[in-house]
Amino acid sequence: MAYHQLLNATVNYLEGERAHGRRHVNVDPAKLSVLFRPLPPMPVNPIAPAECQSMPELRAQALACTRCEHLVASRKQVVFGVGNEAADILFVGEAPGADEDARGEPFVDAAGELLTRMLKAMDLAREEVYITNILKCRPDTPNQRNDHRAPTADEMTACSDWLHRQIDFIQPKVIVALGKVAVGGLLEMENAPITKMRGTWHTYRGIPLMPTFHPAYLLHKETMQNKRAVWEDLLAVMEKTGLPISDKQRGYFLKH
Ligand code: SF4
Repeated sequence: MAYHQLLNATVNYLEGERAHGRRHVNVDPAKLSVLFRPLPPMPVNPIAPAECQSMPELRAQALACTRCEHLVASRKQVVFGVGNEAADILFVGEAPGADEDARGEPFVDAAGELLTRMLKAMDLAREEVYITNILKCRPDTPNQRNDHRAPTADEMTACSDWLHRQIDFIQPKVIVALGKVAVGGLLEMENAPITKMRGTWHTYRGIPLMPTFHPAYLLHKETMQNKRAVWEDLLAVMEKTGLPISDKQRGYFLKH
């Protein structure tokens, strides 16, 4: 049984005891000490695709991935990622939506157009960076009116090996995590407090990671404060990657 299943079973048992008014449990000290032993290493690569020498090979393997049966049944195609395979900056979102699923490319909806405009403000084209999602297949929405849902932590973990291998090939200087779900998925946090985390550097697989708001959130809450916050995050990314920053770029929001 997996560790998290054991943990869930333990938590459920203890909650049941508490519901019955019991406040203490008797535990054999010898058994308790087992909990403090280091855990055996968890498998890092859940998919373990065959060795491949290039991104096109990796892409070909990912496009045929059938690990998540429920997503395979509903997806139109795997949305692997686009851009410069030697990019300095890697943008990572949460999962493809309907438009991305149809076109096989991440960030092609209204939020994607905003991302393209954000890149343009950085004097970058989409082709100069790499853009992908943690989850490569569109989350299914059976029996749900709304045809959008965020990927679950388990789904993101199941798919993470593709992202890890993309990172190994690209070796970006910086990762930009777009939105709360992507930040939580990458940094393994439930309910990542994106408002507090954005603007501060984190690390993912040894690479500096900047969390910022998802462009879809910006479209939804298009306040000057939010736009300025994202721009400050992108300026920090430009600085970190050694991109030139003009006075105009530095001053975009100074007058507001
Ligand atoms: S979500 Fe990822 S792991 Fe699951 S089937 Fe799609 S590509 Fe494979």
